[in-house]
Amino acid sequence: PTIAFKSGFIAIVGKPYVGKSTLLNYLIRRKIAPVSKKPQTTRQIIHGIRTDEDSQMVFVDTPGLHQARDPLGKFMVAGAKKAFGEADLVYCLADPYPPGAEEEAVLKELATLRSPVFLVLNKVDLLQDKQRLLPVLESYHARYPFKELIPVSALHGTQCDVLLAKTKEYLPEGPQYFPPDMVVDQPLDEIAKELIREKVVRFTGQELPYVTAVIVDELSTRDNGLVDVRATIIVEKESQKAILIGKGGGKMKQIGQAARLHLENFFGGKVYLNLWVKVVPGWKKDPGRLQTLGYE
Ligand code: GDP
Ligand code: MG
Repeated sequence: PTIAFKSGFIAIVGKPYVGKSTLLNYLIRRKIAPVSKKPQTTRQIIHGIRTDEDSQMVFVDTPGLHQARDPLGKFMVAGAKKAFGEADLVYCLADPYPPGAEEEAVLKELATLRSPVFLVLNKVDLLQDKQRLLPVLESYHARYPFKELIPVSALHGTQCDVLLAKTKEYLPEGPQYFPPDMVVDQPLDEIAKELIREKVVRFTGQELPYVTAVIVDELSTRDNGLVDVRATIIVEKESQKAILIGKGGGKMKQIGQAARLHLENFFGGKVYLNLWVKVVPGWKKDPGRLQTLGYE
């Protein structure tokens, strides 16, 4: 008998920094979601697609369900909630330690869901003593009717095969939503934008917390295969522009070089990257401006 094709949307939820983007990247085996030393650098919701002969999994990397303080944060939370309300399956990612206040908040969000939920206990490589895993799993088990509880290491790919096998079991029969060779559903400039923004956050650290946006002005391929990327980094104040540029342009050089390497890695070829910095006062507070800047 022929096996029916299965497909569905899988929302990955969990507090910032728990490893959502790392897991998504591992599951689709392509580096698209920026992974950061700082939480919440993924502003857009990114779909990663994994297709094999009898299934298609569409993973949704949701930004953290954190307290939204500004309009941009509110967009993020609304998007995340929508993504996981409509999912065929939800991965609830957590650290391999007993649940604390942040985890309780995520569990509370799950309470109203009808989709099946897996507890994915990530970063188990950090546990010296594997015996400690059992009480953690038990304590999660007591708090929510998870369909499966699966310890993994997204960083090393440990147990991700088990996760994928269980995922396939729970997916409904369904169509192939995307072409089999598609790994992300976002335009390349969205991805370039996120990669550049991640470098800005990485190299400016605490100095420029979430006041930057990136606009990709041009992304094109030359006949010789070289990829041209022209992008503008938006900040709110002249002082932030100065931080971003750094002494003698040193900071921008670092950001540009790291972003170029990452883009070359992603596109699999040479990239010519041209970065500009622009001051747009109050862009973050004014949703109208966000729209102009490309955040719907
Ligand atoms: P997100 O905010 O939930 O998307 O988290 P990220 O995927 O950006 O990961 C946050 C940090 O945790 C990064 O430094 C990752 O390298 C790290 N990380 C993710 N998964 C693992 C894991 O399985 N083991 C360890 N040791 N670190 C991990
Ligand atoms: Mg992320």
